[in-house]
Amino acid sequence: MSKIRVRFAPSPTGFVHVGGLRTALYNYLFAKKRGGTFILRIEDTDRSRYVEGATENLIAVLNWAGLVPDEGPEQGGDFGPYFQSQRQNIYRDYARELINGGRAYYAFDTPEEIEEMRRRAPKSEAPPKYDASLRMQMRNSLSLSPGESAELLEAGAPYVIRLLIPEDRTFTFNDIIRGQVSFHSRQIDDQVLIKSDGYPTYHLANVVDDHLMQISHVIRGEEWLSSVPKHVYLYECFGWKMPDLAHLPLIFNPDGTKMSKRNIQSLDELPSGKVDPDVQTYIDSGYEKEAILNYIAFLGWNPGDDRDVFTLRALQNIFSLERVNKSAAIFDLQKLNYLNQEHLHRMETDVLAEELKTEMQKAGIHYDADAYFKAVVDLLKSRLHFRKEFVEYSTYFFKEPESYDPQVVKKRWKGDSAKLLFEFIDEISKLDRFDAGSIEKCVRQIADRHEIGSGRIIHPVRLAVSGIGVGPGLFEMLQILGREKVTKRVKNAIEMIPARQQ
Ligand code: GLU
Repeated sequence: MSKIRVRFAPSPTGFVHVGGLRTALYNYLFAKKRGGTFILRIEDTDRSRYVEGATENLIAVLNWAGLVPDEGPEQGGDFGPYFQSQRQNIYRDYARELINGGRAYYAFDTPEEIEEMRRRAPKSEAPPKYDASLRMQMRNSLSLSPGESAELLEAGAPYVIRLLIPEDRTFTFNDIIRGQVSFHSRQIDDQVLIKSDGYPTYHLANVVDDHLMQISHVIRGEEWLSSVPKHVYLYECFGWKMPDLAHLPLIFNPDGTKMSKRNIQSLDELPSGKVDPDVQTYIDSGYEKEAILNYIAFLGWNPGDDRDVFTLRALQNIFSLERVNKSAAIFDLQKLNYLNQEHLHRMETDVLAEELKTEMQKAGIHYDADAYFKAVVDLLKSRLHFRKEFVEYSTYFFKEPESYDPQVVKKRWKGDSAKLLFEFIDEISKLDRFDAGSIEKCVRQIADRHEIGSGRIIHPVRLAVSGIGVGPGLFEMLQILGREKVTKRVKNAIEMIPARQQ
């Protein structure tokens, strides 16, 4: 089998789209699973759509995601340059080869003349195309005499180079995801290959580079499927072998519309049925990298069973193009949220603790012992939806409560609470070991003694030590806080109870 070489070939026209990251991910996974090469090629020949900074952003997102190319603008490689804007001469030579072989021609029509052609064309369902039916009515090196064309070229008249699509041909090709696909030449125009600014169009540059870079598989979005017949013909003209093809399904909003950044201010205020297509938004909103990649992998692919939580490494082992769906994928924020939680819960406590230290420092919260901090992370990890919640959820582990949630005070601190809390600190002072099991036993004994539910002690104690009404399991929480802190805080709270109850 020949060597696997795949490429992610984005155009730097703006932000990195969820669909773009999926294309990069699938190419990466496909290459890594099969010991192949993952290439980044920047398709920057459309100067009118070029956005300053977009390439840097693209590279930054790929690096962030860990989808680091084996060859590309940063890595270099034997097939560079990896910016199409630096390969202009190559495309011009190949365009000339097509002209010399009678497969392409010069066209001198001005934009106004093209417009006029569109207006004059007989009304039909499909918009008129520059093709076999119209090309001889236009100003090009096929309709003009060789002398006239040569004169125009010599005089420096603006021109484009167009592909001469043969009349009445059916182009058939195989797609790994979609099976056999056919297009008739009637559906295809004489594609511009070189524009009047001298830059190639996507079609020529893409085909030439896929060939020169020895790409074995082209994996990209379905929006490119209708370009394939032109590419099939170009490969035929050059006498080159075409790479295998896989066109990935489109990704839609939950309401079935196309994803677009318009009208989207923030993830908290998404218009109903819409999602944000900009990958950066999810990064900035604090989603875990592994969750984003895991979620994006599932936009059009599944492993064939009910497993759904995968790291990038695990995806690498099981991904296959054969399991990519034909039908469009729907972006589902709930599923992303679920995966985010799953990834957080599965993270090694030591790793998460290390990463959370900076968040704590930023929030100005200081803690003494590493072991203590890790114990808190371990306890709270399973309650987090986002890692940024940790600071807020864990404050009372590092600071005494400065106030008590008034709603909870009203509900939980009853007339007998002070007495019960006294009893509680008295009982825990007698414990040999201050661990969750022993503390629980203490609480149950007090409850039994008074013939009350243990909630009458649990809730007031929680409020006393944390200032709030929710949190992890109380007994584990108290064990981590330690007897000294717990006793002190409960005593402080007891002072507050009568005042609060008046
Ligand atoms: N430059 C095209 C894009 O922006 C690449 C399409 C392809 O992969 O062939 O998506």
